Amino acid sequence: MEAFDLEGEGERVLELIARYHREIESRPVLSRATPGQVASQLPSEPPEEGAGSAGEGWDAILADVERIILPGLTHWQHPSFFAYFPANASGPAMLGELLAAGLGVQGMLWLTSPACTELEVVVMDWLAKLLGLPEMFRSGGAGSGAGSGSGMGGGVIHGTASEAVLTAMVAARHRARQRMRAGEARGEAAPPGSFTVYASDQTHSSFVKAAMIAGLAEDPEDRRRVRLISTDAQGGIKPDELEAALRADVAAGLTPAFVCATLGTTATGAMDDVASVARACDGGAGAGGRPWLHVDGAYAGAAAVCPEFRPMLAGVERADSFCFNPHKWLLTNFDCDAFFVADRRALIDAMSVTPEYLRNAASESGAVVDYRDWQVPLGRRFRSLKLWFVIRHYGAAGLRAFIREHVRLAELVAGLVREDGRFELTAEPSLSLVCFRVRGAGDAGNLELMRRLNASGELFLTHAALPPASPFRGQERGGGSITLRLAIGATSTREEHVRRAWASIQREAARLVAGT
Ligand code: PLP
Repeated sequence: MEAFDLEGEGERVLELIARYHREIESRPVLSRATPGQVASQLPSEPPEEGAGSAGEGWDAILADVERIILPGLTHWQHPSFFAYFPANASGPAMLGELLAAGLGVQGMLWLTSPACTELEVVVMDWLAKLLGLPEMFRSGGAGSGAGSGSGMGGGVIHGTASEAVLTAMVAARHRARQRMRAGEARGEAAPPGSFTVYASDQTHSSFVKAAMIAGLAEDPEDRRRVRLISTDAQGGIKPDELEAALRADVAAGLTPAFVCATLGTTATGAMDDVASVARACDGGAGAGGRPWLHVDGAYAGAAAVCPEFRPMLAGVERADSFCFNPHKWLLTNFDCDAFFVADRRALIDAMSVTPEYLRNAASESGAVVDYRDWQVPLGRRFRSLKLWFVIRHYGAAGLRAFIREHVRLAELVAGLVREDGRFELTAEPSLSLVCFRVRGAGDAGNLELMRRLNASGELFLTHAALPPASPFRGQERGGGSITLRLAIGATSTREEHVRRAWASIQREAARLVAGT
């Protein structure tokens, strides 16, 4: 194998990345690639001779990145990216990601890279403190010896919030099963053992997907063990209905095992009242004990770095787990989900399998964390590096300023919507998300407006279905259950970008209404 000029080629790749960001505003936000266009420019056979051995260096490879790959991108880091929720990145996070790749370690066990594990323990404790999370979600301090019997809480980095909800659900089911077995051993009658899981009808699709993967649902519509509780006009779960559903299932001999509350629903940013959800869980405890309460704050959770946004966390001290995505709104490249548990034993009991080849003295001493037992995969990347770089570079004050600026911009946009009688807000702005639509244009008209805006390349926004109880749903002349969403969160978005976006929206809406 020939030596690779890491420094020389690396400098060129870094230069390409820097130029990409410098010039990103000249690109259409949503890629204009048509299906198959990228693939058709790539050879169907892999090269026999690599660029290295052919001596051509990386010129051809980097030229193809510019010619084929970049035009095939939708630019998530573009300041006019307002779609879905953001997946923002920052220079410090990019360098952390690069360093993690460069070091090339795999941190499945403490032994396989002590720094990979211990930095993660510390950074997750930092994050818990930055968000003002209850102490039970912290690891318990330096080194954080985590023998499986220790019962301490702590945080772990997962790839996504989807992995977090799946992991929490599996741990919840295991814990409920254990409690039932303990009841059986004490001679208490055991229920048939069908586990049921609960969330609002506004929960993210990852909840239903987790139920499918965990074998609790055969398809997305299978409601035999999955309960989607109705929501109020704002899109928050109705705790009374949750409690009624839990009680009815217990009465029917089922075992409620898992409840997921959402902070910041994907459609409109609605907040479940976690304290009320926790109370409902108390009322719905069956043979498996009180169901596990997981709080999914994938997008909104980051805002808790600011004390003024922490009221949404009220009741989280009664949850078993909490997650949010620094990769959505905390300057940290995808992928990075921060997943906190109050009792790590529940995860470890549900997921630890130890073949001989993984045995080692450090693990058996109980003095270390082995994060492989806190997640589905065995192997794991050194993701805490990028989070560490972000927190060290920006500091708590920088992170707060970042969030506050986006919330300010969302309020500004909401004000602009209110000022223009042709539009209406379809929900109260939630943090940095603004939901709106053109009055009287109906779903088809609003979707057409979105299509035109996205095709213009000037901005990218997406739509969602309004919560079923929303006063805007179907009531407006022309009907409608669709809202447009403008989610602010790209690292480089400034006031000029949201003002420009609003001007584009006004212009296209006027054309639409005029029938041109
Ligand atoms: N939960 C909520 C509320 C979300 O909005 C999303 C994604 O937007 C997810 C979960 C899934 O996130 P991930 O892509 O990290 O799995």
